[in-house]
Amino acid sequence: MPVLVMKFGGTSVANIDRIRRAAKRVGVEVAKGYDVIVIVSAMSGKTNELVGWVDEVSPLYDAREYDAVVSSGENVTAGLMALTLQEMDVPARSWQGWQVPVKTSDAHSAARIEEIPPENITAKFAEGMKVAVIAGFQGVSHESRITTLGRGGSDTTAVAFAAAFGAERCDIYTDVDGVYTTDPRVSDKARKLDKISFEEMLELASLGAKVLQTRSVELAMRYHVKLRVLSSFEEQSDEAGTLVCDEEEVMENRPVAGIAYSRDEAKMTLVSVADRPGIAAAIFGPLSEAGVNVDMIIQNIAEEGRTDMTFSCPTDQVKRAEKALNAAKDSGDINFHDLIADTDVAKVSAVGIGMRSQSGVAAKMFKTLSDEGINIKVIATSEIKISVLIDRKYMELAVQALHDAFELEKAA
Ligand code: ASP
Ligand code: MG
Repeated sequence: MPVLVMKFGGTSVANIDRIRRAAKRVGVEVAKGYDVIVIVSAMSGKTNELVGWVDEVSPLYDAREYDAVVSSGENVTAGLMALTLQEMDVPARSWQGWQVPVKTSDAHSAARIEEIPPENITAKFAEGMKVAVIAGFQGVSHESRITTLGRGGSDTTAVAFAAAFGAERCDIYTDVDGVYTTDPRVSDKARKLDKISFEEMLELASLGAKVLQTRSVELAMRYHVKLRVLSSFEEQSDEAGTLVCDEEEVMENRPVAGIAYSRDEAKMTLVSVADRPGIAAAIFGPLSEAGVNVDMIIQNIAEEGRTDMTFSCPTDQVKRAEKALNAAKDSGDINFHDLIADTDVAKVSAVGIGMRSQSGVAAKMFKTLSDEGINIKVIATSEIKISVLIDRKYMELAVQALHDAFELEKAA
């Protein structure tokens, strides 16, 4: 039998009514002849509640026990989903991560899936079971402890199962009906895309379009798992949602697929550092050791042997960055006159695989921002992305203007 993976996020299993609704949708696919693997999240809000309890008991918690607690939300929904299916006369059974087993690394709270042996579940399918319900987000370490995969990790569970079972497709049911050209809350002209490539989705996911966990898209790209993002609240057709797939399957030749933004960026400038070999390593080494995720970097032209170095990082890492850089200064590894943090900035990015072959995309982006009187503070580019840092108060305006400039309201 062909295998289909269906993943239901927290809002899609938020209460018994919604679990019934999701189960009905599973029943439809079973009737089509699929063996179905259902991956469930915890009921919406549940994981946050569990994390809150852990923080209350032990702010510097033991990560093994954190995982023991926060993985439990998924156990509840997995059992309830299996029961609901059984009530509908669909043969179903639930599995927690360790039972499958979903073998992971030992990195508690951010574990990576290493292997999913399919035998246990395949044997049950052979006996006539139609649906295997899997608690998402969790696995088991080399030490036989429960692990979790990081927030949003049940997307990754779903893709990993699709890869391990050679599923025809991995359907991700969520509370939005697909991937949009930009956040519909920022621009009312945002359009749902029928298809998007893995690479574009990866850039959009890491830029803060929170539809899918970034890891899940990486995994889908590596194993060529066809992903479909769709709403569990709307009537379904085979064309519903957005298909995330290999580039070759995305036919449209558009330079830009979407405009993403990230509100929580900060810009930090080291004023007057010595311009000498090794200076970048001396600055960014300590930052990386301190766990600061540096994104964009610019080094100004040197004058009289000194230069300014500017970089961006998430706002909540500014304190950590300051501490690391001041420590490096105190120990004499680097020398700067001043360290300035600007926390009132936002990042806006245009993403599209068409940029590789079409020129003028960056020029159009800069012209559009300049026509709106928006000053660009930092620019960074990759093969399929152009990002700018601007004052946060202009973020919405920039997103709307760029969405118009690249005519994304015509996208499909
Ligand atoms: N329940 C987990 C979370 O809220 C995992 C998930 O839903 O993907 O992060
Ligand atoms: Mg999610």
